[in-house]
Amino acid sequence: MTNQKKDIKQILSSAFFAGRDIQLCDPETGTKYTIAHASIPDIIDALDVAENEPCQCCEESEHQWSLISSYGDEKPYLVCSNCLISLVTYRLSKKQYKNLLKNGHEESEFLIHDDFYDEDGTATQQLKF
Ligand SMILES: [Zn+2]
Repeated sequence: MTNQKKDIKQILSSAFFAGRDIQLCDPETGTKYTIAHASIPDIIDALDVAENEPCQCCEESEHQWSLISSYGDEKPYLVCSNCLISLVTYRLSKKQYKNLLKNGHEESEFLIHDDFYDEDGTATQQLKF
């Protein structure tokens, strides 16, 4: 596991995220991580995906994680580590938000629901940690 990914685990495992579990899959190795007491409102499952797909949020980095929400969102989010944190804390930039919509995600999905973003993609309910 790279240092960056360890950092992600630490962030997601922080006290702020108490009470929920999260599972992530590292597409490089196929290793699945369960992060106990992670917060994220019920992101529970993870999928293996084709390699070399770019991050759906920034479209700059290769995606490093895939995750799906147990709220029933059907498509996995293929995201790099930086965008993962933004996604699960409802802190996407307008560009990240619009890229997700462009890449097949929908406003009805829990993580990018209009409870958290207004019409132009401005984050309105950012979690702080
Ligand atoms: Zn990204």
